[in-house]
Amino acid sequence: MFQNLSERLESAFKNIKGEGRITELNIAATVKDIRRALVDADVNYKIAKEFTDTVKDKAIGSKVLLAVNPGQQMVKIVQDELAELMGGTEAELDIKGSPAVILIAGLQGSGKTTFSGKLANYLKTKKGKSPLLAAADIYRPAAIDQLTVLGGQIGVDVYSERENKDAVAIAQNAIKEAKAKNKNVVIIDTAGRLAIDEVLMTEVANIRNAVTPNEILFVVDSMTGQDAVNTAKAFNDRLDFTGVVLTKLDGDTRGGAALSIKYTVNKPIKFVSSGEKMDTLDVFYPDRMAQRILG
Ligand code: GDP
Repeated sequence: MFQNLSERLESAFKNIKGEGRITELNIAATVKDIRRALVDADVNYKIAKEFTDTVKDKAIGSKVLLAVNPGQQMVKIVQDELAELMGGTEAELDIKGSPAVILIAGLQGSGKTTFSGKLANYLKTKKGKSPLLAAADIYRPAAIDQLTVLGGQIGVDVYSERENKDAVAIAQNAIKEAKAKNKNVVIIDTAGRLAIDEVLMTEVANIRNAVTPNEILFVVDSMTGQDAVNTAKAFNDRLDFTGVVLTKLDGDTRGGAALSIKYTVNKPIKFVSSGEKMDTLDVFYPDRMAQRILG
């Protein structure tokens, strides 16, 4: 019968309770257990190892409180440490300015367009903003159609220029349009590729240089596990993005990518997204994700 990490730790700590104190010896198996749970949750092995070493150092010597279950105490240490590593508290979104500009980047299929719609809906319904969505994907007319449909569902205007093959100009024109129509946030959905390539990176970097966004959000599919880290690194090297959006957290995925990405690029995770409905966007809470990773 599969036990989750909390249950496994509790049984592991039954033996320690009598000794009253956590030692190198009695914690070894537990540390291994935690590491395995992290790797199972898609945390990069090297990161999982460094993390458990830190936790071990914190736990050794600490008294096992008789009042609480020592397993739970250990789970708490691990959870707090995980949450701390993922940013501690939730990150703010900069939407100051008229208009504020938010650039959305990521691989094709990562969920950029869906997220753009969800973000527009969130800003409209939760933050009282008046957003404009901009379709800057010049390669796939279907992407413009998709954004237009989403915009229709949530009652947000979509700016596009089907004949224009200059993504930078489209982004700039969208901002002009926002000013003319009193929209105070422009969300620019950019083109993606199936793999990182130079043309894509240059194009997004050019848009960034032309529109100086308040936020550059990197969208990544949480189901891509270890690959997510490499993709995040490549985008961050070129774009120096301001935040991460983890999509598709509705599946079985435990979200270890959140920890690996934060650890690797040290940028805050700002949103987590699950499902295809426009109202399923959540601000990222590190403590909730820590619980999810530990299972
Ligand atoms: P883009 O190419 O990056 O713009 O990605 P899309 O927004 O078109 O999303 C790619 C596919 O994933 C579409 O079929 C979406 O409906 C789906 N999708 C996007 N976000 C989520 C999510 O959070 N959960 C699930 N289950 N599917 C999603």
